[in-house]
Amino acid sequence: MIPNFEATSYDFTPYVDAHNLIGGEWRAPSGEAIDVINPRWGKAMATVGMSNADDIDAAVQAATAAVADWRQWPIRERAHVFYKAREIMTRDLEELTWLVSHENGKTYAEAKAEVLKGIECVEFGCSLPNLAAGSGLEVSRGVTCEITYDAVGVVAGITPFNFPFMVPLWMIPQALVGGNAFLLKPSEQVPLSALKLAAIFREAGLPDGVLQLVQGGREAVEALCDHEGIGALAFVGSTRVAKLVYGRAAATGKRVLCLGGAKNHLIVVPDADPAVTVENVVASYTGCAGQRCMAASVMVAVGDVDHLIEGIRDRSAAMTLGTDLGPITNVASVERITRYIDEAEAAGAKVLVDGRGQKGTDGGYWVGPTLLDHVTPDMPASCEEIFGPVLSIVRVPNVEAALNLENSNPYGNASSVYTTSGDVARKVMGRVEAGMCGVNIGVPVPREPFGFGGWNDSKFGHGNITGWDGYRFWTRQRKVTTKWALQSDQNWMS
Ligand code: NAD
Repeated sequence: MIPNFEATSYDFTPYVDAHNLIGGEWRAPSGEAIDVINPRWGKAMATVGMSNADDIDAAVQAATAAVADWRQWPIRERAHVFYKAREIMTRDLEELTWLVSHENGKTYAEAKAEVLKGIECVEFGCSLPNLAAGSGLEVSRGVTCEITYDAVGVVAGITPFNFPFMVPLWMIPQALVGGNAFLLKPSEQVPLSALKLAAIFREAGLPDGVLQLVQGGREAVEALCDHEGIGALAFVGSTRVAKLVYGRAAATGKRVLCLGGAKNHLIVVPDADPAVTVENVVASYTGCAGQRCMAASVMVAVGDVDHLIEGIRDRSAAMTLGTDLGPITNVASVERITRYIDEAEAAGAKVLVDGRGQKGTDGGYWVGPTLLDHVTPDMPASCEEIFGPVLSIVRVPNVEAALNLENSNPYGNASSVYTTSGDVARKVMGRVEAGMCGVNIGVPVPREPFGFGGWNDSKFGHGNITGWDGYRFWTRQRKVTTKWALQSDQNWMS
């Protein structure tokens, strides 16, 4: 592993402090401000204030006022704001890419991919008028039933640090084109991409109060969960917090969808294509420095796949830190990841590639690609979310044992199989306990219009967050039954 920590220089002067956007005004949150730290250099870029219940209430009041008019706009006119937003995002692609890279730490290429994926979500929003026509039928003589989609009203979304631009865009298009006013509470670690998003939508012509930002952490999230004026709430983050938010928000009668953490397995069988498998497995566990909910975390090695493991080892060891792989989000995360590696090694795992102890030349938080072999199912590295560039190889004798191992894990976000056998692929795809599955692809993210969402402890609530399911989550179905033929000789059912 050759470190290249100086891949780009830092200049954070363009970044302003992250305030709330309430009713079209930038306002400092009531609570104390903390630094927004760039993980590559460990340097502060700006500050972000912590909102309290009063700030949340002010945002809900402004949203309630704004949504009264916004929900009356024809859906096509609401979608036109997204056409314009897409143009601005494309114009500002370079600026957005550097912003995401600076505040999250991911490499330029990863940040650009994130921004482009966010733009795809906006494109889905543009297409909604063509999908949301509803349906109608003459159900008996002279009687028709019709379904239309109505806004919930004021809704909220809470997002994690690892995709500061894309994850808010999993929610905003469907919620806003659906006629709602949306409150975004970004992660306090990465609040700046959300500022730029809000600025883009203002430039695109979104009326004040329809998209608002509330900065902060736990206190802000709890106030959002508790506020009676919010009708629907989505959350993306760790399973521990997802469970808390799900219970607390549902207690006030909101509809709630919470996406949580993951422990994704790649099942690799001996007939797998070597070039595709090696490249894919490494990309899957090292992409975004392993800080993504779709990252591979366990490779289930079925039988003798030593030739593939050697390829994965060599490719991992050749990666350049800082160029191929970005930093870890903070010191605490570096310590957590290192602890998992230490514990696995102490329990008998073999460290084939060791990413511990990396020091940036000018600070920052780093762990290099780490490959652990002979990990056993009882080790925390094999069953808990590590959220770093660590791949645990667990060896099993056959596909049946691989499925048993995968399915004994409480998470259910993603799972992939590497094989050239249709029979093996079908068997795994038919039985694996995961919401998003891949055959010969290590990050099986369902792209628009297919919905994104896991199973089991990776999601609380029903449906997916993106695609058509997202639109259904943020809208209510109104069923209208009409009888115009008022024949006196027929009863009300006819
Ligand atoms: P996190 O759960 O720490 O934070 C997510 C959000 O919750 C943030 O906005 C944060 O301010 C808030 N929060 C944190 N602690 C809280 C508490 N005690 N009470 C109320 N709110 C709280 O997650 P993170 O570290 O930002 O993101 C990484 C996690 O997100 C990983 O577990 C990853 O797997 C998961 N994730 C899941 C998906 C998915 O689609 N399933 C996508 C991205 C990330």
